[in-house]
Amino acid sequence: MKAMVLNKISSVEEKPLELVDLPNPVPDSKQILVRVSACGVCHTELDEIEGRASPSRFPIVLGHEIVGKVESLGPGASRFKQGDRVGIAWINWACGQCSFCLRGEENLCDKAKWTGKDADGGYAQYTVVSEDFAYPIPERFTDLEAAPLLCAGVIGYRALKLSGMGNGKILGLYGFGASAHIVIQVAKYKYPNAKVFVFTRPNQEEHRNLAQKLGADWIGATGDTPPAKLNCAIDFTPVGMPVREALRNLEKGGRVVINAIRKITPIPELDYTEHLWYEKEMKSVANVTRRDAQEFLPLAAEIPIMPEVREFGLQQANEALILLKEGKIRGAGVLGMAR
Ligand SMILES: [Zn+2]
Ligand SMILES: [Zn+2]
Repeated sequence: MKAMVLNKISSVEEKPLELVDLPNPVPDSKQILVRVSACGVCHTELDEIEGRASPSRFPIVLGHEIVGKVESLGPGASRFKQGDRVGIAWINWACGQCSFCLRGEENLCDKAKWTGKDADGGYAQYTVVSEDFAYPIPERFTDLEAAPLLCAGVIGYRALKLSGMGNGKILGLYGFGASAHIVIQVAKYKYPNAKVFVFTRPNQEEHRNLAQKLGADWIGATGDTPPAKLNCAIDFTPVGMPVREALRNLEKGGRVVINAIRKITPIPELDYTEHLWYEKEMKSVANVTRRDAQEFLPLAAEIPIMPEVREFGLQQANEALILLKEGKIRGAGVLGMAR
């Protein structure tokens, strides 16, 4: 099979992913072999490549927003049949035994493996995964549309749940890329009387136009003060400053959820009175559980979420990652294997 592999920590600008021929992976007992048709391009890949969230081995195949068809089953696998369309997300495996797993927080499991970081992912024509960590994909989505739902969508959904959002509240979204443009659609559907304020980098006209199209109630730049305080905010940016900005604009008792695996710049010093007093809260979102995916995919079909997708070929993965880093992809970037 063809695969784009990462051999070592590098800067994304060096175009470090290398196109190679690898033997097709063989599913072990409980695994399925999946022929990949689409794989989304995620900010986490930038963190993996540049060493902020380093893969546990090299070479490795990145990619954790995988859509494909079941090609074959391991001897102990029975949940899917050949030809079924499935998705694979960031959580690749969890122990099922530890205190976190037992209370449904497998996203915090110490032994968990992450797709494309500890196990080969979807920047390739084939991949394997335990059948318990694959999900049926609702019919209404094409392969390309479904891919960004599996990370950008699922983790955005988890962040929205953690934010304490409710009907009639005001939600602030800092950054408007792959995840935020899905979250706004979920928020508008679940909370029809809520308002959503969107903050982008200045000059991100494409992102602003998309926010407008998707019903944002106000759109400004990251340093702006919105017309009303935020009850909840989600920060999707890779940098530290928007966290302090979100806290500054937060209503009393409000909460900021940080949706990032790593930050490339520190969160600036906080002023206790201005940023935290009055019971303001700050919380991160770490990884996803299977339940998040199982809840979100049918909801996405019901709404329906319409992901904006820009397609690249497998061999263009380096170029797609550079554009992502520069904030130049409107919606979500997806590698299409048919291309
Ligand atoms: Zn991701
Ligand atoms: Zn565990």
